[in-house]
Amino acid sequence: MTKKAGFIYTPDFLNYQFSADHPFNHKRVLLTKELLEEQTTLITEDLITPRIAADEEIALFHDASYIEAVKRAGNGDLKEDRAQEYGLGTEDTPIFSNMHQASAQLVGGTLTAVDKILNGDYKKIANIGGGLHHGFQRKASGFCIYNDCAIAIKYLRKQDDLKVLYVDTDAHHGDGVQSGFYDDPNVCTFSIHETGRYLFPGTGNVSERGIKSGHGYSFNLPIDAFTEDESFLELYETALRKIAAFFKPDIIVTQNGADSHCLDPLTHLCGTMKSFEKIPVIAAEIADTYCDGRWLAVGGGGYDMWRVVPRAWGQVWNVMKTGAPCKGPLPETWLEKWQKESPAPLPVSWQDGADIQPNIPRKAEITEKNKLLLEDMLKYTAII
Ligand SMILES: [Zn+2]
Repeated sequence: MTKKAGFIYTPDFLNYQFSADHPFNHKRVLLTKELLEEQTTLITEDLITPRIAADEEIALFHDASYIEAVKRAGNGDLKEDRAQEYGLGTEDTPIFSNMHQASAQLVGGTLTAVDKILNGDYKKIANIGGGLHHGFQRKASGFCIYNDCAIAIKYLRKQDDLKVLYVDTDAHHGDGVQSGFYDDPNVCTFSIHETGRYLFPGTGNVSERGIKSGHGYSFNLPIDAFTEDESFLELYETALRKIAAFFKPDIIVTQNGADSHCLDPLTHLCGTMKSFEKIPVIAAEIADTYCDGRWLAVGGGGYDMWRVVPRAWGQVWNVMKTGAPCKGPLPETWLEKWQKESPAPLPVSWQDGADIQPNIPRKAEITEKNKLLLEDMLKYTAII
């Protein structure tokens, strides 16, 4: 019997830790898992223990010399100038002990998900420990060492001739994944993100459309800073429906960065939980319409690890498992356990209160600008 949804988890995901005060903190994965267990939407039978990725699997996307450099860096054996060449030892991506093993474990999570979807055991799997979309072929970037999304798509394409639609709703452009498939017409990438005018990595312009036979299979919506739910969702939903109708994917891979929330300290978008409820609902619908339900979801960014990420990623799982996001109060047991550690009061409900958003005086102007951007993208792609 085909099981419907699976949740990848191992405590070893928490070994991906640059330093105690680095903004990327994978305790988020544990917080999310425990929230879902207390909510009882996640039960033991849903859990899948991942394998570790082999070097040759990581090499489906990354250069062998880069993998070697990551290994040496994690053993304290890489000279500083060599490290800089590979984007290692920077402020964003510092070197930490055993960084290869920790990174290969995250990749292994996403590859395990691919294995289980391709062999028919599962239709939908979440690996919120993955989603490291900024990793490049021979360079670490933006908190990402190995790009599990790109590796998993390469791996998937090697096993089976399936058309892959990659959907990236992180507040930052999914640049590493786009780079891996820029000339590939069998992998369509769609990234909606805050404009790169003021935000890392600076790319993701609407005019980035792919090259060679991949031309027309790369889609970008660089939305304005301070965009709120309504405008974000209008663009996301309209664009995704049109892209899916055009591309007709066999499987979708979604990157669910939770850093477009208004509380996120690193970005300037103004989303709330409304966006994070709707994003997976539309993704599930696309998977059911075009892909016989096949949907792999990974995590990504998200730097308010207490108030935002567990609920945002939790809703991805809730939609996968039950078909709908959770409503109402968060489990008191979870709040009691973690409030002691959280530097800010934890939200008590799955939904945000009306008072969460700052007042955005330029709202009408931003909405209009975003509408024009969508028109631009659709015009470029000629799929209106
Ligand atoms: Zn991000």
